[in-house]
Amino acid sequence: MNVQQEAGTGVEELEVWIDQDLCTGDGICAQYAPEVFELDIDGLAYVKSADDELLQTPGATAPVPLPLLNDVVDSAKECPGECIHVRRVSDRTEVYGPGAE
Ligand code: SF4
Repeated sequence: MNVQQEAGTGVEELEVWIDQDLCTGDGICAQYAPEVFELDIDGLAYVKSADDELLQTPGATAPVPLPLLNDVVDSAKECPGECIHVRRVSDRTEVYGPGAE
């Protein structure tokens, strides 16, 4: 899904990436939002593309579907590795995660 940025609505396109160097592999994110996160055979979490493909490149980004935003944000908040980063696509500013203000 492609969420368009609409003036006045506050709806913005967001993307999420994981810093695998810090991932503990506990799988909390995959429990909260299995449509977005999945553990690979190396025991670390990776993001999934809009068409459900696991993106195995470390630090790869995937779009955050709006209906799953709360689950993704909860994942970032609960992530023990503090390694889930959610940012605005438009200016790459982190809005949820360890780098958010
Ligand atoms: S919640 Fe964080 S530390 Fe745990 S598997 Fe997901 S990305 Fe890794």
